[in-house]
Amino acid sequence: GPHLLEIRDLRTHFVTERGEVPAVDGVDLTIRKGEIVGIVGESGCGKSVTSLSIMQLIPKPPGKIAGGSILFKDEDLTKAKEKRMKQIRGDEISMIFQEPMTSLNPLLTIGEQISETLRLHRKISKKASMLQAVEMLKRVGIARADTIVKEYPHQLSGGMRQRVMIAIALCCEPELLIADEPTTALDVTIQAQILDLMKKLNQETGTAILMITHDLGVVAELCHRVVVMYAGKVVEEGTVREIFDRPRHPYTQGLIRSIPKIEEDVKRLYSIPGNVPMPGSITEGCRFAPRCEYQMEQCRSMVPDLRDVTGLGHRARCWLNEEKEAAV
Ligand code: SF4
Ligand code: MG
Repeated sequence: GPHLLEIRDLRTHFVTERGEVPAVDGVDLTIRKGEIVGIVGESGCGKSVTSLSIMQLIPKPPGKIAGGSILFKDEDLTKAKEKRMKQIRGDEISMIFQEPMTSLNPLLTIGEQISETLRLHRKISKKASMLQAVEMLKRVGIARADTIVKEYPHQLSGGMRQRVMIAIALCCEPELLIADEPTTALDVTIQAQILDLMKKLNQETGTAILMITHDLGVVAELCHRVVVMYAGKVVEEGTVREIFDRPRHPYTQGLIRSIPKIEEDVKRLYSIPGNVPMPGSITEGCRFAPRCEYQMEQCRSMVPDLRDVTGLGHRARCWLNEEKEAAV
C-alpha cells in the first residue's frame, strides 16, 4: 500500500480486577513514508499504549491486542512472531523514550554502546565501528564527539543523553522512529534543539517519525500531521495547519487554548476543566461530554463517528460537526 504504517481498528486491552479495560479502543492511524505524525493527548489517553502496540512491547498479560491490525509495509505486526519482531525492532523501527538513562547501559561508554549497535547491523571491525560512532555523534550535533565517546552515560546532561539515544536509534537506519515524549524531561532551550535535530534528520534521511506527546506546542514545531486522542479513541485528525487554524473538536480547542504563550502570565494559563475518565469506566455517548461546554442531549447517549469534516481528510468525532452539515 501507499502507507508505511497503517493501523486499523486497533484494540489493546488490559485485564484488571474490574474486568477488561480498553486502553486503545478502535484506533485508526496511518503514516506515510518520510512523514512526521504526532499523537497528542493527556496521560492515560492511550497514546503510549498505541506506540507500544506497534512495537509489540505490551506486557502480556495483563495486556493483549484484542482486535485490529497494524500493517507495517503490508506486514501485520499483530501476527508477527517474536523472532521477526526482534528483526523489525533492530532494523526497521526504532524507539526513543523520555528518560534515556533507562535505555543506556551505565557500565559501557557511549562509544562502546554505539559501536555495539552498529556491529549488530553491519559487518565491520570494532575499530571501524568506533570511528563510525564518532561520526554518528557529530551527526546528532555533538561537537566534542571525540571526548564524549569515551564517557559514561552518567557523565552527560539529559539533553546530551537524548542526542546519544537518537544516534543509537539511527544506527540501523530505521524507516520509522517512534519517539515517546523524548523532550518532556528537558528544559525549553534543549527541547527546541532536540526538535530541530529530529526535523533535520527527517529531512536528511527520510525516516518517518511518530511523535507521542502531551504538548501541542511540540506538535506545532515538528509534525506534518496530528492525531488527537482522548480516552482511548481518536477524536480529531488532520494536518498541523488545519488543526491549529480550524480545530473541529472541543477537546482539541481546549488543548490549543492551554498552550503557554511566551507573553502570557503562566499563572493564568488555561487548563481544560475536569479529568480524563478512568479507563474502563462505563460511559455512554461521547467520552468528552462531562468536560465539554457544548454538550447536547445526543452527546450523552450516542458516540459520534470520526468523520471527514472537510472532504480532505480533516476528521473529527463530534456531534457539532454533524449538526452543521445537517443545517446546510
Ligand atoms: Fe462536546 Fe458533544 Fe462534541 Fe462530545 S460530541 S465533544 S460532548 S459537543
Ligand atoms: Mg506516555
